Amino acid sequence: MRTSLILAAVASLALAGGAAAQQYPTRNIIMLVPFAAGGPTDTVARVVAQSMSKPLGQTVVVENKPSAGGILAPEQVKNSKPDGYTILIHHIGMATTPALYRQLRFNPLTDFEYIGLINEVPMTIIANEKVPAKNLQEFLSYIKSNKDKISYANAGIGAASHLCGMLFMSAIQTDILTVPYKGTGPAMNDLLGGQVTFMCDQTTNTTSQIKSGKVKAYGVTAAQRVSSLPDLPTLQEQGLKGADVAIWHGLYAPKGTPKPVIDKLVSALQDTVKDDAVKKRFADLGATTYAPDKATPAALQAHLKSEIDKWTPLIKKAGVYAD
Ligand code: ASP
Repeated sequence: MRTSLILAAVASLALAGGAAAQQYPTRNIIMLVPFAAGGPTDTVARVVAQSMSKPLGQTVVVENKPSAGGILAPEQVKNSKPDGYTILIHHIGMATTPALYRQLRFNPLTDFEYIGLINEVPMTIIANEKVPAKNLQEFLSYIKSNKDKISYANAGIGAASHLCGMLFMSAIQTDILTVPYKGTGPAMNDLLGGQVTFMCDQTTNTTSQIKSGKVKAYGVTAAQRVSSLPDLPTLQEQGLKGADVAIWHGLYAPKGTPKPVIDKLVSALQDTVKDDAVKKRFADLGATTYAPDKATPAALQAHLKSEIDKWTPLIKKAGVYAD
């Protein structure tokens, strides 16, 4: 008797859960951003959140949970209720942090459901306008003769700006004092204020500053120039190899989020990557929106795995650890 009562209770709870998944979403959805407001990840999040709100019929609210390296937001999403009301946007850091942190409290490969890939963004090497160098070669000489005065801003170990800086410093065989921020939004403010010398950041954050001449720009970390910044040469064109990196963004939900809920999020993301206004907004910021076949759980999972396999040996070889 007792057992059957318990079974009935469990069954009705499961039914209620199933019904809730079918009716999803009935309230706002929180999209957690691992870095500070006003930065590049935040910019991508706001475009995606606004666009996904339409097909979902509910507001997707962007919430910043900034930390150096972006390591707290994934942990928070991992520990959130798997009901589709808390999701995560993150970049390449999901693939690089496992090799960089010995104490990471989330596992990108086992703690999440995947929604899909969003876009890919190159980075740019920029410096504050007081730096006199007019091109990359002059900038490299400037670095050599001012090594003890200059500083590099990044968003903490595991951030895209950390990865790019690591590649750049290794390519020019020079170690430079690094100042970590909780995002390159605040780092950009300090760069504009002249407190730090240079950084490498996504075009989603640097395009308008480069165009308005508020920062010096020395190169793009991609094989080809970015159409929104046609006058800026690539690093490779200028003879610097080994510092290329493309930053990709993906959407995640806590492990155990019901399939009907994930399906609705995937469908909303599909609408977003097909939306011409979204594609144009991203293109204006130097980013390329992924084709719909990449905005799927399987494509994100495969890409994440291949990026982990790509970066782990390189990071281990560089011997960098956050702790
Ligand atoms: N661009 C930052 C990074 O270096 C993150 C951010 O502030 O969005 O990863």
